[in-house]
Amino acid sequence: MKDEILKLVEVEKENLFGLIQRLIQIKSYSGDEKEIVEFIAAKMNEFGFDEAYHDNFGNAIGRIGNGPIKIMYDAHIDTVKVTETENWVRPPFGGVIENGKIYGRGAVDEKPAMAGFMIAGKILKSLYGNNFSFTLYIIGSVLEEDADGYPLYHIIENEGIKPDFVLLGEPTDLKVYRGQRGRMELKITTTGKSAHGAHNQKGINAIYKMMPIISEIEKLDKKLKPKPTLGKGSITVSNVISKAPSMCSVSDFCQIHIDRRMTIGENKSSVVRELKEIIKKHKSDAKISIPNVEGVSWKGTHFSQEAYFPTWVYDEKHPIVDAALRTSKLAVGKAKSGVWSFSTNGVATAGHFGIPTIGFAPGKEELAHSSNEEILLNDLLKATKFYSLFPFEIINQ
Ligand SMILES: [Zn+2]
Repeated sequence: MKDEILKLVEVEKENLFGLIQRLIQIKSYSGDEKEIVEFIAAKMNEFGFDEAYHDNFGNAIGRIGNGPIKIMYDAHIDTVKVTETENWVRPPFGGVIENGKIYGRGAVDEKPAMAGFMIAGKILKSLYGNNFSFTLYIIGSVLEEDADGYPLYHIIENEGIKPDFVLLGEPTDLKVYRGQRGRMELKITTTGKSAHGAHNQKGINAIYKMMPIISEIEKLDKKLKPKPTLGKGSITVSNVISKAPSMCSVSDFCQIHIDRRMTIGENKSSVVRELKEIIKKHKSDAKISIPNVEGVSWKGTHFSQEAYFPTWVYDEKHPIVDAALRTSKLAVGKAKSGVWSFSTNGVATAGHFGIPTIGFAPGKEELAHSSNEEILLNDLLKATKFYSLFPFEIINQ
């Protein structure tokens, strides 16, 4: 069976390369994914999927099989924008293939996985018809770049699809990725009392109230301790705003925005507790809040989500990681594990819902969002072998 699957992936090679090329050529900025979603759903139908549609949020969803074990493959098919056009050696939406590589926006982050998933689905459907011991959902998720996790949160919460295992198509350079640091955003607000600048002793300056808090945050960042696998968390003041009745007055409002990366053992309550201690130490009445991430999908669906994206990691002996490492040996001939430095849709599946999640895809993480996005087509071929074999290693557990 394995040999037959591997052979069929080779047979589909030109289709696979044509498909990744087409996916890169369809521009799909976050919030503007209608064309690519419709293309993907139509292709899934053409490939004989049991179901292919887009959900109420606008995600492309395909299904093959109806067995008891539910596996979800997710590739977000939105991309960040092309900005520094002068730095692109090849046109970002050309889908140029040269020297065994393909180039363009989304060539790493993360259209290859979508092409691989679809070809894997086509092969599995052709081999097994209606005789599946698993159900495979293939998701082309939207708006991930703006709201990591939300598209899958929507599917699980509102579309009635509850997977037992999840595979993410974010770049891993053909390693099995098994976690990521979490992240959250916070705001701290101080208020004072405005007064004329000429009588500043009559006012209370909200900016001055914020200053010791900012310098404690700077110290806190240096004190955060590295943990195994995920390294250390971090805290960054990313923005400061203030208000005063005029430029000649005492400021009565100050607010900072914080980016917090969380390692193992750090979560919403521990992060808020640290900041409360700083505020208490300075006998301040500063207020902490967690903002919402909000937006509208291409289908016009509004979403709003607290800006808290939990940390998650599985060790190498976890059944899903073990199954993935075994699959990697079959498909690639080697098996290594790692973790992402950035955030992924796993914050919803693993972080929020606790569903075992891993990642496997071609492409180097550090090329994501750059003008140098490129992958080796041969790596995409290997990843497609992985995608075709992985369900069987999972159900063997
Ligand atoms: Zn991505």
